[in-house]
Amino acid sequence: MAENCGLFTRDAQAYLSAPAAMTTGQLSERLYTVTDGNVRTLFIEGERSVIAFDTFGTPGRARSYARAIAAALPDKPIGTIIYTHDHLDHAGFAADLAPGVDIVADELCAKVIKLRGAQGQLQPTRVLTGTLNELTIDGVELQLLNPGPTHGSGNIAAYFAAERLLFSSDTLLANARYGFMPDYHFRNFTGTMRSFLALDWDRFVPGRYELTDRAGFERGVDFIEAVMDACQQAFANFVPIWLYQPMRDFCIDQLAQRFGDMEGFEDHVGQMAIRIVHHYLMGGWGLEDTPEARVLLADQVSL
Ligand SMILES: [Zn+2]
Repeated sequence: MAENCGLFTRDAQAYLSAPAAMTTGQLSERLYTVTDGNVRTLFIEGERSVIAFDTFGTPGRARSYARAIAAALPDKPIGTIIYTHDHLDHAGFAADLAPGVDIVADELCAKVIKLRGAQGQLQPTRVLTGTLNELTIDGVELQLLNPGPTHGSGNIAAYFAAERLLFSSDTLLANARYGFMPDYHFRNFTGTMRSFLALDWDRFVPGRYELTDRAGFERGVDFIEAVMDACQQAFANFVPIWLYQPMRDFCIDQLAQRFGDMEGFEDHVGQMAIRIVHHYLMGGWGLEDTPEARVLLADQVSL
């Protein structure tokens, strides 16, 4: 049977079908985190069902995620999926994870998904608006936060006060192993991420790699701000900002003393810089970097 193929137009069946070895960890009586070694997400035990954030990024990985959930909670089916944002590599394959269940997403995420029409990415059934939504789903009280643009469209973070834990997918990492940042909203990113520090938590679950604590989260914000600062200095120093090697060398020279110990720093900072200089060069990609990004598509798509 042909797999749901996202936006692929040529045969990618082997990639789409490949399973992943999932590693599941229990964070509290009700919270679990699961990773394929790169992408990481969270699921929650409800009274009669499981609430799963996201889907992983292929049909094969979505099925591996379903098996990991079933292994941890064998008596409870997935009842709800919450999309953290619109991207296919995190939320593209609900049709393969658990077709027919409730899907919760931010309004902007839902609108992008509707327009995109990617095969396997199911339309949300419940749409949220605003910066804070307090929901009870299958006996689980949830605080879903969207204080401003960070990454992707309609990014939702989850705050678990009882566990003093924050989950925010595809935003900050405990390392520097992410350089390609096409859908980060730099005008708002670090301010929005710092706003989470007003909440009381000491564990952070990122959308990739390993968990970190409050200090690791703050260092992650500091790192992105420092790269943004170095990129502006590159303009002032007439570094050829569109060339990879000079930008990499300049950023390593500027930042290695403070951030050179971060895993992946030298391999990724050049790519990060190429993306970030274009924020300053062009003013952002389309409407994404307007100060009030919520106006994007607001009255142009009906759900
Ligand atoms: Zn993403």
